[in-house]
Amino acid sequence: MTLASFISSGTSHAVINGFAFFAFVVWLCLGYWTYKDARRRIEDPLLIGLSVLVALVIPFIGPFIYMLFRPPEYLEDVRERELEIKAMEERISAADLRCPVCHAEVDSGYLVCPVCTTKLKQACASCGSPLEPIWQVCPFCEAPIEPAVPGAPPALGTRRARRTSRR
Ligand SMILES: [Zn+2]
Ligand SMILES: [Zn+2]
Repeated sequence: MTLASFISSGTSHAVINGFAFFAFVVWLCLGYWTYKDARRRIEDPLLIGLSVLVALVIPFIGPFIYMLFRPPEYLEDVRERELEIKAMEERISAADLRCPVCHAEVDSGYLVCPVCTTKLKQACASCGSPLEPIWQVCPFCEAPIEPAVPGAPPALGTRRARRTSRR
């Protein structure tokens, strides 16, 4: 069998078609991989589209070009790190509580500033624990907390209302 007859034969067509199909599948897979990878690293849908376009328009080399320019980190890693930094900052600021009036160091459990006697926190009417302004209920004794609005009549039926009326 000569080379010319091999090329024109049906076997060679099948082989060439097989290779073409294989290349087509790899090309599609690389495009899909680029799309998946870009979505994990890039927020802008336009840039994700551009990455996939580069991967598909330049067969087999496009994905490598994308790899050269893609962001080094996954978006979820970036978000996780940002959250960690935020939590760390909150921990630092919580450890450094200060009186708003005299800036003396105070504990989170203080009701008044021991230096300048400024009222720092409301005490629970039931158990006397220091309360955070946003709390709806005392976490130590489950007593409901009414918002400290000056002059507002206490709500009836609550433990605090009964206490104040008894006094
Ligand atoms: Zn103070
Ligand atoms: Zn309480």
